[in-house]
Amino acid sequence: MKQAVALYPWARSNYLTSKDGRLHIDGVDVNELIERYGSPLYVFSERQLRENAESILKHFRRVHRNTTVCFASKANANIAVLQVFKDAGLNIEINSGGEFHKAMVAGYPATDMVFNGVAKLDSELRKVIAAGIKAINVDSLSELQRILEIARELAQRANITLRIIPEIKGGAAAGWETGTSESKFGMTRSEQLQAIALINQHPRYLKMTGVHAHIGTQVTDISAYQREAAFLIAYFKEVTELLPYPLEHINLGGGFPKNYSSSEDNWSTVAEHYKSNYRTEIDFGILSRTLIAPISRALGESVEIIVEPGRSMVSDTGILLSRVEAQKERNQHTMYYLDAGYSVLFDAFIGWYFHMINASRADDTDTNLCKVVGPLCDSSDVFYDIEGEGYVKTLLRDQPELLEHKALLEKVLVHQPSMRELPTATQVGDVLALFDVGAYGLEMMNDYCGRLSAAAVMVDIQQDSRLIRRRAQEEDLLRYDVY
Ligand SMILES: *Cc1c(COP(=O)(O)O)cnc(C)c1O
Repeated sequence: MKQAVALYPWARSNYLTSKDGRLHIDGVDVNELIERYGSPLYVFSERQLRENAESILKHFRRVHRNTTVCFASKANANIAVLQVFKDAGLNIEINSGGEFHKAMVAGYPATDMVFNGVAKLDSELRKVIAAGIKAINVDSLSELQRILEIARELAQRANITLRIIPEIKGGAAAGWETGTSESKFGMTRSEQLQAIALINQHPRYLKMTGVHAHIGTQVTDISAYQREAAFLIAYFKEVTELLPYPLEHINLGGGFPKNYSSSEDNWSTVAEHYKSNYRTEIDFGILSRTLIAPISRALGESVEIIVEPGRSMVSDTGILLSRVEAQKERNQHTMYYLDAGYSVLFDAFIGWYFHMINASRADDTDTNLCKVVGPLCDSSDVFYDIEGEGYVKTLLRDQPELLEHKALLEKVLVHQPSMRELPTATQVGDVLALFDVGAYGLEMMNDYCGRLSAAAVMVDIQQDSRLIRRRAQEEDLLRYDVY
C-alpha cells in the first residue's frame, strides 16, 4: 500500500486549471487573490454553486416535477452563498433560530423553509410558527407537545412533519449515520403513532404535512437510498390511512456524496477503505433514478418531494488557500507548517481527507512524500493521520497478538493516508490549496489558540472577486469577554 493519494491529476476543466505553474480558479490567479485578500483564504466559485443548483433541479425535476430542494444551510450559511442559491431557485433547510435569522436576511420567506433539530427551543418554535414556516420536522413527542402549546398560545396552526427512524445504515463511516435508533435522531414507529393521534386531536393547531427521514452524510452506498425510498413509500401510505386529509410532501433528507479528489486514478494505490469514503459514482442523475423516480411512481406526481442536500451542493465550490510558514526535516521526510489548521478547517480534526496541491508550483512533476500540519499547539492539528497511526502502533506494541487484525485496526482507526505528495521544491512562502472545502468549512471555523478566522471571497461569473466574509481582527477575539 502506497502511503499517499496521488497528487495528479488534479485539474478540473473550466474550474481548476494552471497557468505559468500557478493555480487558477475560474480563470483567476490564486496569487493575486492572496496578495489582495491575505492568507489563509477561502475562495468560492459562483459558477460552481450555480452549476450544482441547476444540476440537482434539472435531474430531479425531470423525473418528478414537484420536487423542492431545500439547501441544508448548516453546510454553508454565508449570506452571499445563500443568496446565490436563492437566485438559482433553491429553498432552504434550517436547524436553529440562528439559521432562521440568516435565511431571512438572505431573503428566503418562511414558507420556503423546513426546520430540523433534536432540541428546538420554545423561542425558536415561537418565531417559526408565527412566521408560518413550511414545515417543522418534529423529532420527539415532547417537542410536539411544546409545539401544540405554542400554537395554541399564538392561535396559529403549525405545519408538522414527523422524522421517522428508517433503521438504515449508510453514513460514510461509523458516527456519521443518522438513520438508526442507535443515533440520537428521529422517532420510532410507536412514538409516531402517538404523535399522529395527538395531531388528529388538535386539528386547529396542528397539521401533519409530511414525513421525513435523513440517513447520514456522504452516503456512498446506493442501496441505502433504495432502502430509504422503499421504507418511506410504505410509511407514507400507512400514515395516509391515519389522517383525515392527504399528506402534502415526503422529505428524503440529504447526505448525498461528492468526490474528494479530481480523479479515481488518484486513489488507485491506497487502501480501499479510504477510497470508499471519498470516491463515489453517485451523482444527481443516478439519485434521480434510484431515489426520486421510485417514489414518484409509487406516490404519484402530485405529491411534493423534498430533499435537503448540504454537502453535495457546496463541497466542490470552495478552495482553501494557505501559506507555508515553516518547514523541518523529520524521519527522512519534510514537514511543512501551514498558516491554516483545524481552527480554519475543522473537518481536518476528525481526519477528513482534502486533496492538496502546491498552488505556486502547480505543474511541478518532481514530487516527494511529506507531511503537512497546521499551526495550532495541538498534535491533532495535521493534514495526515498522526493520531490514528499512533493508536495502531501503540496497540500493536502493547498487544502483539492483535497483529493479525492489523488491517481491521487501520480501517477503524486510521482515517487518512499517512503522507502527502507535493513538489520537492515546495518551500516557505508557497501557497498550498486544499480542494473541496466548501461544506462545513466556514461554518465550523473558530478562534482556537487566538488564531483569527479566515476571510472568504467569491469569484463571480465575470472573473471578478469580492469579499464575502471579512478576516477576523484581534478585537473580535474580545467580543464575548466581559471585563
Ligand atoms: C445535516 C443535515 C442535512 C444535510 O446533510 P448533508 O450530508 O450535508 O447533505 C440534511 N438534513 C438534516 C436533517 C441534517 O441534519
